[in-house]
Amino acid sequence: MNFELSAREKELSAKAREFCDQVLVPLEIITDEHGELPMDRREAVKQAVRDWGFAGINHSKENGGLGLTMVEQTAIEEQLGRVTNGLWSCVWRPPVSLKFGTQAQKDAYLKPANQGYRRGAFAISEEGAGSDPRQVKTTAHLRGGKWHINGEKWFVTSYNASDFVIVHAHVDDDPNKPTLFLVDKPAEKMVHLRSPTFMHNFAFDHAELRFDDLELDEDKMLGEIGQGFELTKDWFVEARLQIASHSIGAATRAAELANDYATNRHQFDRPIRDFQGIEFMLADMAVEIFAAKSALYRVAWEIDSGVDRKQVHAHASALKLHCSEVAGRVIDKALQVLGGRGYMRENPVERLYRDIRVDRIWEGTSEIQRVVIGGQIRKRGLSVYTDVT
Ligand SMILES: Cc1cc2nc3c(=O)[nH]c(=O)nc-3n(C[C@H](O)[C@H](O)[C@H](O)COP(=O)(O)OP(=O)(O)OC[C@H]3O[C@@H](n4cnc5c(N)ncnc54)[C@H](O)[C@@H]3O)c2cc1C
Repeated sequence: MNFELSAREKELSAKAREFCDQVLVPLEIITDEHGELPMDRREAVKQAVRDWGFAGINHSKENGGLGLTMVEQTAIEEQLGRVTNGLWSCVWRPPVSLKFGTQAQKDAYLKPANQGYRRGAFAISEEGAGSDPRQVKTTAHLRGGKWHINGEKWFVTSYNASDFVIVHAHVDDDPNKPTLFLVDKPAEKMVHLRSPTFMHNFAFDHAELRFDDLELDEDKMLGEIGQGFELTKDWFVEARLQIASHSIGAATRAAELANDYATNRHQFDRPIRDFQGIEFMLADMAVEIFAAKSALYRVAWEIDSGVDRKQVHAHASALKLHCSEVAGRVIDKALQVLGGRGYMRENPVERLYRDIRVDRIWEGTSEIQRVVIGGQIRKRGLSVYTDVT
């Protein structure tokens, strides 16, 4: 077993770290105070992503991406996770489902999206459909050679940074026909209802949209009728790995800041790290990161090694659950070590504390991951998780 990152993986990780420090970290406070990344900063960041060579990190070269392995992507994503306010999302990751499009769709959407000239948001969730997407009420009916889309979507992340939306709808109002559609912006009958505020101040918005009999050409369907979930399966694995990577990056930054503070802060005539109450918190943080990070790179390696998809799916759920919960605990302890300073918005740990909470909710809540893991154990035995591989 070799756990050493290759020279190239180390180089990508170091470059991502430098990109964060030079380009994204200086935007943290302004994004937090403004509620999102100000519009007049967005083009320069986009150009920086291209200049630093991070355009299309999650797609093949054939589709205009960088053709990175999953371990390479993880090395980059982990560093991006260090930044606050969801600024990691300035590095675009076009939805995986686009790779299943027709050649014309790949040319029109995926390739320019990989270069950052287009961007897509993904709309599945609705008021009545969260953990259970079969409750989706958005419908698609084919009439007179046009698709007619009706319904409402919630939580559409990065809508105001996107120029198209991938909409998950039920053809003929049939939950057995979940299907994806490409909707270009602006579309008169795709109405932006509002972009509510959230606990975090994210780089881009999370919008609510209404489709009032929006008409689409037939070639705006992505994949086949009923393939809505099939096309997003790979996305779930990738998104869960990204969340796990970001969680480890965030937890590591918080732990580093706490460790520095504990060394330099003196109370009662000694550094506070000399108090066992503080040292034990630092020890627990380090151990939690150590274990979770080992699992993260193991699952990334499994994907690159062509391990069975079902096993990877099972492991990605466990990883997302564990890393997001570890990050919550580590950042909470880091804030405690920092005392009052950790509670100040100008301190990255305070912002990480707010940012990290959503990682236990989106892309499948912690409870839904446990449902998946429990189901895997029932179906295939505990060894899915307890064997080395
Ligand atoms: C900031 C943010 C951004 C988002 N971005 C997007 C996006 O871009 N596109 C998109 O489509 N969606 C997005 N979402 C939606 C997200 O995927 C959902 O919030 C998530 O799937 C949970 O759904 P829900 O909020 O409706 O909660 P609910 O499904 O109502 O769940 C409420 C509670 O019940 C629990 N629960 C539900 N079912 C079970 C069960 N079977 N067993 C045990 N417990 C259960 C949940 O775990 C949770 O604790 C985003 C959400 C947020 C907060």
